[in-house]
Amino acid sequence: MWFSRSQEEILKELDVNLHTGLNTEEAVRRLEEYGENKLKGKPKKSIISLFFIQLKDMLIYVLLGAALVTIIIGEYVDAIIILFVVVLNAVIGLVQEYKAEKAIEALQQMTAPKSLVKRSGEIKEVDSQELVPGDIVILDAGRYIPADIRLIESANLQIEESALTGESVPSNKDAKDIFTDPKTSLGDQSNMAFMSTLTTYGRGEGVVVATAMDTQIGKIAKILDEDIEEMTPLQKRLEELGKTLGFIAIGICVLIFIIALIQGRDLFEMFLTSISLAVAAIPEGLPAIVAIVLALGVTRMSKINAIVKKLPAVETLGCVNVICSDKTGTLTQNKMTVVKHYVSNQVKDIPAESTGLEATSDEKELVKSFVLCSDATYENGEGTGDPTEIALVVLGDKYNLSRKILNSQHKRVGEKPFDSDRKLMSTLNIEENGYRVHTKGAVDNLLKIATKTLIDGKVIPLTEELRNEYLKVVEEMSNQALRVLGVGYKDTTTIIESEDMESDLILIGLVGMIDPPRLEVKASIIEAKAAGIMPIMITGDHKNTAVAIAKELGIADSIEQSLTGSEIEEMSDEEFTNRINEYRVFARVSPEHKVKIVKAYKYHGNIVSMTGDGVNDAPSLKSADIGVAMGITGTDVSKGASDMILTDDNFSTIVHAIEEGRNIYNNIKKSVIFLLSCNLGEVIAIFASVLFFWPIPLLPTQILWINLITDTFPAIALGLDPGDRDVMKKKPRDPKESFFAKGAGFRAILGGTLIGILTLVAFYFGLKEYGYNLGANDIPDGVLIYARTMAFVVLAASQLFYSLTMRHPTKSIVQVGLFSNLYLIGAIVIGFILQLGVISIPFFARAFRVQMLSLYDWGLVILFALVPLFINEIIKIFLRRKDKQGE
Ligand code: ATP
Repeated sequence: MWFSRSQEEILKELDVNLHTGLNTEEAVRRLEEYGENKLKGKPKKSIISLFFIQLKDMLIYVLLGAALVTIIIGEYVDAIIILFVVVLNAVIGLVQEYKAEKAIEALQQMTAPKSLVKRSGEIKEVDSQELVPGDIVILDAGRYIPADIRLIESANLQIEESALTGESVPSNKDAKDIFTDPKTSLGDQSNMAFMSTLTTYGRGEGVVVATAMDTQIGKIAKILDEDIEEMTPLQKRLEELGKTLGFIAIGICVLIFIIALIQGRDLFEMFLTSISLAVAAIPEGLPAIVAIVLALGVTRMSKINAIVKKLPAVETLGCVNVICSDKTGTLTQNKMTVVKHYVSNQVKDIPAESTGLEATSDEKELVKSFVLCSDATYENGEGTGDPTEIALVVLGDKYNLSRKILNSQHKRVGEKPFDSDRKLMSTLNIEENGYRVHTKGAVDNLLKIATKTLIDGKVIPLTEELRNEYLKVVEEMSNQALRVLGVGYKDTTTIIESEDMESDLILIGLVGMIDPPRLEVKASIIEAKAAGIMPIMITGDHKNTAVAIAKELGIADSIEQSLTGSEIEEMSDEEFTNRINEYRVFARVSPEHKVKIVKAYKYHGNIVSMTGDGVNDAPSLKSADIGVAMGITGTDVSKGASDMILTDDNFSTIVHAIEEGRNIYNNIKKSVIFLLSCNLGEVIAIFASVLFFWPIPLLPTQILWINLITDTFPAIALGLDPGDRDVMKKKPRDPKESFFAKGAGFRAILGGTLIGILTLVAFYFGLKEYGYNLGANDIPDGVLIYARTMAFVVLAASQLFYSLTMRHPTKSIVQVGLFSNLYLIGAIVIGFILQLGVISIPFFARAFRVQMLSLYDWGLVILFALVPLFINEIIKIFLRRKDKQGE
């Protein structure tokens, strides 16, 4: 039992040195022996089962029923065609779903959790999957526990174990505990940390005792079936639309059947016609096409460093009009360098490349306290940990006060970790005659707990005058966009608890560090503003520092546009909500303020994206419309609560993601409107001919062929349209806006009507050529075959051409670039080849009851087929004029 044995025993059994960890070769060997550290998911769906899932569809049942009827009647060719189309359609669906699934899987892989592990004497971040028993793992707040771990060291460690025990209040952990009772329950094993639970506070170190399915969570296999399949609002709406259209289709079918019955038409033919009409009317391809466009879209987004975790986020992204962003690391580079310090009433510059600086005794105290109160490391030009602390460790090196040496002389015996509410961190280290507390953090908060200060080697009371002096220096440094951090200490003779550390301190001094803005952010802010999006800065830093940087980046113009956390507290909720639009910068805020800010913006109907990285940021990430977590500095908790992760922590990426989101939405819209136009065209052609007692211009198999095969490729290709550069010159979309708003519905109806009418016109021409009229009732079979071929080709060709004009609602096909979407050109070419194949290869021509056309006929057919495209292009000319006048 791991919890009942001493640390030494366990380390010995697992054959590992606590200080160096496993060496790399041994880790590789154990990985082979124990396998990857991951819980077994549910078995993957096989291709065969995916194929059969495609067949589980109302429409397919209808078709299979139709096939059965045709077999009973002896129309074997029709039956074969129906079955062939069903299978081909399922294969296309299967390929799409497979691709979409692969894309999502790849994204999940990218967001796999990582762990800090000691290997060959160095601390490294590795994929948690690579952990093996015996690995020494560092635990810090915000990370998931990657395996079952026996704790070796703990400092105020708290772990939330609800995944395992159901208990949502974090448990306190203590590495020193040992339990002799073998029946100690999991919840009471305070010297253990279990896989999939979450560090909420403090730090710790431990040795991995079990991985993968050998862990406690693996044994109960509780979280295995995490289903990520979630329909986006758009998919839901489309499904509803599909259902409505389905009902309408059934209504029309019944109607047609009744009319045909009254007219005394051939019943079997009308049965099939009704079914094919249903096929034409039900937009069964929509969900699959939306899924593939979304999946390919998120793959594209991952290439620009934005990993979308939840598909609905893609749609919402396009509507975002407020981006709330952290400052440090997102708007700035998070490359901190100390450039000034202030001790004994003196500000001193610290040259960038300086080494071997001589420290006065007060300077020495300042740097020593800062370095001892840091967890970061800096060795051989590389730092690990919080950049603010790395800057302090580097400062120590400049004064020859290296972290390693200081830490060995003054071993740390206690600590109170940093949290963004207190904005302070403290450690307790051994000092010559006892112990010393070192506390560093936000100067305003330090001043609240300091009573004395160190000046020229003497500890004197912190008078009002001296306080003001400190505040003045803070203000000056902040106005220069510097991040200011103070430090203080107090001596004790005994080891004290963390709650007693932060009081009665002796303030030593301050440092000012620069953190240059990210170069690309300025341009992104201009772009965001042009796109009707308001960038907002939210930071834990000092107001003046925040405003200085906000001004430099173009987020704010004056200090009046900023508000601090304490000012927020002074306002009533109502006043804050009413005045929120006046502000662009929120400084010295805590995570709870972030929630308040999100809610206030949302109250005004804004669609808000909010960034976050810390453990306490989960609520604000969840309450935002789009929660954005940082990939590099973010904790596992913030990543878990987010909708999107930035792998480069960069503000510009959010703006790019919004652009992609808008484009993806537009592309989906194009595919859907296109498919609906095509379906409508087919319905109109058939319905009109039944209504007016004309012969049916298209046979059921022909409709099936066009509707399920030739349509599909251009629809997918439209979904893959390259982004429109002008999309960021427009205001964000209103999320409540109907899918058919802004003329999209009109376009679908117009396109459908034109396609339908032209199909009938082609049919009419076909009959006319042999001297027959639409109303004639003794048309020979040969003539019908010819006229139907004309209709068949015009229907397919007009849809293929129409897809070209669907690429943009107002720009002409030339402005968009005829060849800028080669997928679409390919889809159109394939469509024509298929169509040509069907009418020219005798075997297929006989099956589909069509014939080869003459060159003259082809000319005519192409001419007809181009009409919907041209009319739409002419309408666009007017729309462009109107847009210009409106500007
Ligand atoms: P942002 O929210 O834009 O990322 P931030 O990084 O400045 O801003 P926090 O990390 O919450 O926000 O820091 C808030 C304040 O806490 C800082 O201004 C600084 O005074 C103090 N602080 C930051 N890091 C530490 C640390 N490691 N130890 C002690 N104090 C710190």
